[in-house]
Amino acid sequence: MSQMMDSDAQYTQCLQDLSLASRILAHHGIVDGFGHVSCRDPRSPKEHFLLSRNLAPALVQPEDIVTWRISDAEPADPNSPRGFLERCIHSEIYRRFEDVEAVVHFHSLDIIPFGLSPIPFKAVYHMASFLGSESAPIFDISDSFGPTTDMLIRNTTHGAALASSFSPLFDVIPNTAAGAHARPRCHTHRGVS
Ligand SMILES: [Zn+2]
Repeated sequence: MSQMMDSDAQYTQCLQDLSLASRILAHHGIVDGFGHVSCRDPRSPKEHFLLSRNLAPALVQPEDIVTWRISDAEPADPNSPRGFLERCIHSEIYRRFEDVEAVVHFHSLDIIPFGLSPIPFKAVYHMASFLGSESAPIFDISDSFGPTTDMLIRNTTHGAALASSFSPLFDVIPNTAAGAHARPRCHTHRGVS
């Protein structure tokens, strides 16, 4: 029997894995009530990604996963349940970086302070060497969209601005409370992810 899974089987497996990942991230406190994890849709990885409907990460089950278009972050099925506004973070990262397979968006209390202070987020011991030698760039949504922004990445224009801030080696530390918050990215797994 072939070891290769067809795309439908991969899709079924993906629904299970992605929902489990969501619950694991919640269990370990990586995502809070508003964080989310996504991955490309194995049936059409260049066009679609998979992300749960608007639901607390700890509650996500396979049937809660919705298929979204990478091109505009809208659901592939217009009758799909409501999604997270911040899904544009995911769509624009997939659109810009073809090698990114998965994205986690979360609000890390360990990392957010580095987006607010002048102290750079950088490796200081060998276990963090995957960060490289440069400090992570910081994305401030008000630089692109003015001081009256509500700090939420709520459309593809906002998402594209954030994605454009990513460098080949690092994810970006947004310094807004409701912006995208990404952990450092290793060289071989750029999807935050
Ligand atoms: Zn957020």
